[in-house]
Amino acid sequence: MSGYSTKSGDKRMPEDGAGNASIKHVRKKWRAGVLGATGIVGQRLVSLLADHPWFELTEVAASERSSGKSYAEAARWHLDAPIPAAARNLVVKGLEPSLDCDFVFSALDSSVAGPAEEDFARAGYPVVSNSRNHRMDPDVPLLIPEVNAAHLNAIPLQQKLRGYEDGGFIVTNPNCSTAGLVLVLKPLADAFGLEKIFVVTLQAVSGAGYPGVASMDIHGNVVPFISGEEEKMEAEPQKLLGKWDGARFVDAGLGLSAHCNRVPVLDGHLECVSLSLKKIASLAEVREALRHFEVSAELAALPSAVRHPVVVLDDENRPQPRRDVNAGNGMAAVVGRVRECPLLDVKLTLLSHNLVRGAAGAALLNAELLAARGLFKSRSVAAGEELAEPVSR
Ligand code: NAP
Repeated sequence: MSGYSTKSGDKRMPEDGAGNASIKHVRKKWRAGVLGATGIVGQRLVSLLADHPWFELTEVAASERSSGKSYAEAARWHLDAPIPAAARNLVVKGLEPSLDCDFVFSALDSSVAGPAEEDFARAGYPVVSNSRNHRMDPDVPLLIPEVNAAHLNAIPLQQKLRGYEDGGFIVTNPNCSTAGLVLVLKPLADAFGLEKIFVVTLQAVSGAGYPGVASMDIHGNVVPFISGEEEKMEAEPQKLLGKWDGARFVDAGLGLSAHCNRVPVLDGHLECVSLSLKKIASLAEVREALRHFEVSAELAALPSAVRHPVVVLDDENRPQPRRDVNAGNGMAAVVGRVRECPLLDVKLTLLSHNLVRGAAGAALLNAELLAARGLFKSRSVAAGEELAEPVSR
């Protein structure tokens, strides 16, 4: 990936003269566990945590198939870069909420994520989840920091209603195709207001986990059905673009229709979107609103944030998954083909990395915001102590 400006690289790994990265931030280094660490999203998390300036991976957990093995033995590794050295020899644990860490990411299969995440929250762990199980719960923030950071104000009520004492709670990130869509809708909602959205997705196979769609079903083919996906895409943006009113989440009240398709692409969900706006806007104004979408200073300081999370391309044949999926280290949504729609007002094509912006990177950014807002606490014996400054790598 080149040609895209990113900021997170600078913040994560300032290079010293010898080519080693030494982290200058004097921050508490929170200890992270990953539930579902052996899966395709879990592996991304393990990889992203390897050089993280604030978080250190101390625990990995998965199913009985994996527990008791070393992480290197249990994970069928899918990434090009090797398994991070710090993770290789961690022993994979089961889902008992007694891990040696300050908070957990959950990348668990949805068949087990619901109760497991509740167990961890009840035991006092902040749970930063990728799974669908709690996304639409009336007291659980469904979070994209650039879109609805104010929804974190729901956490105290969640803790009270559920009896989560000791600092535990659940925060979720949206479905992988919702993530890119809502990131692009947000500046348009702010500038012009939104009425109706019609979206057709072309979703990568890695969105189905591993082994996902059988090769004989997807090679040279398109599958026009992804179980539960259209329902999620039609529900989650309503919550994300809606408001927390102090007692409940109020939906955005959008007209939304989604068609979801699986296509033979490895990574990157492409979405063809038509939308109608409340306020009349020219195409130039729409492009400007997208281009000028900039995060707040609070978010810009987070290690995984990009200052401009929407990248607008002018070439008539972009975005393309193979060329554009890693924009902004995989954390940006890339928009192209902004044009008039004869049915609604505007149509455009967008692309986002389903495993980064739509999963592991999204959870990481959520965790960074939670840490920055003081919502994590040390669960170590010497609670409250600052850990040593991160070592040179
Ligand atoms: P995956 O590759 O199938 O991985 C699933 C993980 O869950 C593995 O670590 C697996 O452990 C663990 N697991 C399965 N059954 C278990 C059990 N009974 N007890 C404990 N652990 C169990 O799936 P994925 O694609 O990484 O997705 C993980 C979660 O993120 C899912 O909820 C998915 O919906 C969500 N998500 C995925 C994407 C994406 O683009 N792929 C995007 C957003 C959200 P073993 O290896 O031991 O079986």
